[in-house]
Amino acid sequence: MIISRPQTGKVRTRRNFVMSFLVGLFLIAPWVVLPDGSPLIRLDIPRRVFHLFGGLFIPQEGLILWFFLLTMGLSLFFFTSVIGRVWCGWGCPQTIYTDLFDRIGRFVLDSKYGKKDASLHGKFIVYFLWVVVSFIASFHWIAYFVSPYEMLADYQSLIFANQTYFYFTLFFTAAMFIDIGFIREQFCRYACPYARFQTLLMDEHSWNVTYDFKRGEPRRDGKTKIGDCISCNMCVVVCPTGIDIRDGLQVGCVACGKCVDACTSIMAKENKKTLIGYFSLKQIETGAKIKWIRPRTVIYAILLTVVITGAIIQLVTRTPMSMIAASNKSMPPILIPDNKIRAFVALRIQNIAPIEKEFQLTAFDTRHGKEILIRSGEENNRFKLGSGEIKSISVVLETQTLTEQELNEGYLPGSIVLKNAEDSDERLEKKLSLTLPRR
Ligand code: SF4
Ligand code: SF4
Repeated sequence: MIISRPQTGKVRTRRNFVMSFLVGLFLIAPWVVLPDGSPLIRLDIPRRVFHLFGGLFIPQEGLILWFFLLTMGLSLFFFTSVIGRVWCGWGCPQTIYTDLFDRIGRFVLDSKYGKKDASLHGKFIVYFLWVVVSFIASFHWIAYFVSPYEMLADYQSLIFANQTYFYFTLFFTAAMFIDIGFIREQFCRYACPYARFQTLLMDEHSWNVTYDFKRGEPRRDGKTKIGDCISCNMCVVVCPTGIDIRDGLQVGCVACGKCVDACTSIMAKENKKTLIGYFSLKQIETGAKIKWIRPRTVIYAILLTVVITGAIIQLVTRTPMSMIAASNKSMPPILIPDNKIRAFVALRIQNIAPIEKEFQLTAFDTRHGKEILIRSGEENNRFKLGSGEIKSISVVLETQTLTEQELNEGYLPGSIVLKNAEDSDERLEKKLSLTLPRR
């Protein structure tokens, strides 16, 4: 386990700001309730609805989910190719919470933090505070799935022990305590999949934490000094993953920039510019400016634009209702007098708008264009559904008189239409193929 030395500097100050903002956002977002009463963000798995910034989505909306995942993946590709592993050093929870745990450790144990001779009760206080932070973070992580207000009320009335979320919170608390407290940088170096394929996404033009070997080498060796690097080793002792950036870009580098601050302060004493900074490899080799526009970044940008445009079109044109229709297996269609067919269809309807709506059901025999819905159990086949509410309805369809030829065909094409009762443009149509009884 590596406990790196703290380091102040410009990069550190900027990271503090970004990290505080991200942690604040993470802690506040699940508590935000919009004026219509819906949460800002909640993946409500028991009710199978996702609340996202005022929109309501359901898992069946697979295309939107694909667009979302593709946008995430391509953004990672694009930003890694342009600005390297900025996510790892500035946005990844592993880095942010390791940093927070270290601050707690230093606050309690001061210079004894990470040393074997630290007092037992001091270590106990550090571990206790780590558990508290892990619990708070886990509570808020679960709050993206379960209402934090409900969980808090349960905790206050001591009725949480039989709630599933409580055991998930305990599990995540334990996992975070072990991972951030003891596994730490080992996760970045040996387990993180992103660290493994980042080298494929970057090239010599990517903007990264890089050592200027042209100026720095040959570094000081004993009293011999030729290049600018004085071999103070400060860039190594501040590194949270324990690597030496002078050996080149490595999987272990999380681009946190601590070595940039360290070398900047050392080189300032020598009246020189830092040897470690945000440069591209090509920039160091040739002194040329960073080439932001290159085939790799252009291709990623085009793909990202296409996917984001597709996602926007999908979002704008989506119908905020869902309907699954299936023939009632236990009640096959029957032939009734006058050569009419009576069929039974089971519907599962969900309102995926953020407000309550009234719906109207109709059904058609599409070959003849005749309405065939006779009964749904709802008055005038109209009903109201609250936001996210699901309703199962059994409907009875009855055709007009069919000819002998039509009856012998064995099936009748039809469709069920679900409409917003106040806005008939908002409609969803499901095709049906009514199997006719054998005669
Ligand atoms: S090499 Fe520098 S930027 Fe990379 S992890 Fe170590 S301190 Fe952070
Ligand atoms: S901090 Fe700078 S001067 Fe010191 S060893 Fe690292 S690169 Fe060399």
